[in-house]
Amino acid sequence: MLPTEVVAIDGPSGAGKSTVARQLAQRLGFGFLDTGAMYRAITWHFLQEGCAPAEVAAEPDQGHARMQRSLQQARLELVGGRVVLNGRDVTSHLRTREVESQVSAVSALSFVRASMRDLQRLVAAAGPVVAEGRDMGSVVFPQAKWKVYLDAAPSERARRRSQDFARQGRVVSESDVLDEILVRDRLDSTRSDAPLRQAPDALYVDSTGLTTEVVVARLLDYVRSAGAAGSAAGGRAAGNVRTQEAP
Ligand code: C5P
Repeated sequence: MLPTEVVAIDGPSGAGKSTVARQLAQRLGFGFLDTGAMYRAITWHFLQEGCAPAEVAAEPDQGHARMQRSLQQARLELVGGRVVLNGRDVTSHLRTREVESQVSAVSALSFVRASMRDLQRLVAAAGPVVAEGRDMGSVVFPQAKWKVYLDAAPSERARRRSQDFARQGRVVSESDVLDEILVRDRLDSTRSDAPLRQAPDALYVDSTGLTTEVVVARLLDYVRSAGAAGSAAGGRAAGNVRTQEAP
């Protein structure tokens, strides 16, 4: 039985999913599951181990055996908004351009997706959650009570992402950010395993020109009108990302 007490929010990069999902979770008293951070953490781990896709592309199996071994040794925990990998808080390493340049290739790997999917379902089984990503409503939580597809015009998404970078003290032009976003969107929506798709039963919300408050209010109305799932979720979720597949 797959979890149903889930607000599944999907959409392309920079549509504002993380900010909206985090605030919505707070308002509802639900847990918050940032699945992009999970894929970023595994990408960071592969970079540390020297087996990120770009580094192993020339190996006969494109480095899959090394990546699977490395994945088996990764213990991923989500603790109060922080991402902890093998006991180390890696949150501040997840939004670098190095990670962003590899994350779509890592998240296209079926053995990575299978272990992330299991962990995401385990987290959601512990209580109601707002889960955001690319395949929440379509693949991971097809029985979610609430599904949202959050979109925005590419230029607005690039503007928001370059403001995020500026807050981190990084100057990246909007046109460079736009190029990177469009590459990630193309990779994420054309991969064979769980591509970015709007679930047929999802509410479509275009956040172009809308403030976060307005979008959160709209989603609160949607969740409440479809019946709230219940009481608060726990703040700590953890799981081993061991995959079942042979190395
Ligand atoms: O949402 P965020 O930008 O943090 O996601 C980073 C990357 O992780 C995405 O570009 C995508 O490749 C991958 N991802 C995914 N499935 C999810 C969440 C993120 O493939 N559910």
